[in-house]
Amino acid sequence: MCALPLLLIAVAVPQANVVFVTWDGVRREDFLEADRLPRFWKTLSAGSLILGGRSGPGMEVADRRMLSLPAYQSIFVGAVTDCSSNGCGRVREETFPERLLRELALPRSSVAVFASWSHLADAVEHVTGTLTVDAGPHGFWPWNDTRRDAETVERALRYLREQRPRFLYLALGEADDQAHSGDLERYRATLLDYDRWLEALVRSLASLGEYGELTTVIVTTDHGRDAGAGWTRHSSGDAHAGSIWLIALGPGVKPGNAMLPATHLHLRPTIEALFGLCPAHATIGEIAAPACGDRGAVPVSQ
Ligand SMILES: [Zn+2]
Repeated sequence: MCALPLLLIAVAVPQANVVFVTWDGVRREDFLEADRLPRFWKTLSAGSLILGGRSGPGMEVADRRMLSLPAYQSIFVGAVTDCSSNGCGRVREETFPERLLRELALPRSSVAVFASWSHLADAVEHVTGTLTVDAGPHGFWPWNDTRRDAETVERALRYLREQRPRFLYLALGEADDQAHSGDLERYRATLLDYDRWLEALVRSLASLGEYGELTTVIVTTDHGRDAGAGWTRHSSGDAHAGSIWLIALGPGVKPGNAMLPATHLHLRPTIEALFGLCPAHATIGEIAAPACGDRGAVPVSQ
């Protein structure tokens, strides 16, 4: 067995699949509260790798603007981009889902994105139509660029069962919308929904035989929220919003606390390594496995 020197994930998995989930604007202090995410903390946490947990290393937003689209673009590119607002437009470089499709020669249906917020389409692919993207147009009142998370989840889980994609991204956004509205009750109710849907996702995978057994789930957020009374906002002036969290579970994941802290920029190389690809950005030294060479597959655990 050959363990890769990765921060988050212990080994690459042959025929890996990844379901990546984001819960927009969910604070670390809420993530840590057992009664906000009861199913996760009661049944799933023991088998999960956790960053930003009650102990152990933390997880940080890499793009210090603490805004959604810049953060999402940094996740999918693996580097901070020149995107400075939610209206910055489409990402300019190839993203890791685009790379997975190209280098693994996957059909378009095998790399899919389901997002409640329509602007997510500007983060996941630099060439429109490369991936299967279901991200709008939406009109969930009073926001005109989003839809109900329940509908996004239903579509994504149906797609998972019917198409069994190698990579699926599920982006949920109502928590951030409710927080911006200052509605703490609805924000917390949304977290309970997220908790329930995470359990439903894990159950769905458990019912899908070998496909489910080979699927790693990673969940994080794009940013936290400002401290105290500023909780309805997230801004570059408040470092509190930069302290976030991450959950990973499934094959290739070593449960417990991560060994070292990480940022959004660790996601791309980690997911690439899970698929046996050398990280696109070698600047993250801990993740660039020496066995990669110039380009080629990293060693895979048998
Ligand atoms: Zn927001």
